[in-house]
Amino acid sequence: MLKMIELPYPLNALEPYYSMQTLELHYQILYKGYVDNTNKTEEELKKAREKNDFSNIKCLEKNLSFFGSGVILHELFFENMGPAIPTEPNVELMQQIIKDFGSYTAFKNQFTEASKVVEASGWCILAWIPKWNKLEILQCEKHQNLTLWGCKPLLVLDMWEHSYYLQYQTKRPDYISAFWNIVNWNVVNNRFAKI
Ligand code: MN
Repeated sequence: MLKMIELPYPLNALEPYYSMQTLELHYQILYKGYVDNTNKTEEELKKAREKNDFSNIKCLEKNLSFFGSGVILHELFFENMGPAIPTEPNVELMQQIIKDFGSYTAFKNQFTEASKVVEASGWCILAWIPKWNKLEILQCEKHQNLTLWGCKPLLVLDMWEHSYYLQYQTKRPDYISAFWNIVNWNVVNNRFAKI
């Protein structure tokens, strides 16, 4: 059984960049739904294995991918934010960013622009591609589409409307720009150190 992660900061800690009400709904309702539905799907998969009845397997695997990816990406997203105390990529991560994107500014520009044009609901992800020993910025439609298998998400931004609409309405670029104030690079650095 998956358990919800605890937020590493109080619900109001990201104000004014990410409102308490938005975070409360996002964490307590939306994220909880993904955790509950992943657990429900795992339970149904267990029953299917026990009965050796896989007549519903396509739907179950689809649900596992959708809800499970939703859990993982939301946890990465919540954990790669923090109070607006300036942090930055450490030397190792910065060197890799410069190697793969040319400069930190070029990386930030690509991430920002890629976030703006995520089709409908989805995510923008800075990921380590183990197969390539390289960082890439990826768009992900919904939670599970357009992924590269084996990638390791390092920095994640939720571009679903529920993540910003209450506070930013149609001003998606403002939301993305505000996000940069609340990235916790210490967490991203640690993720990168563990690749
Ligand atoms: Mn979300």
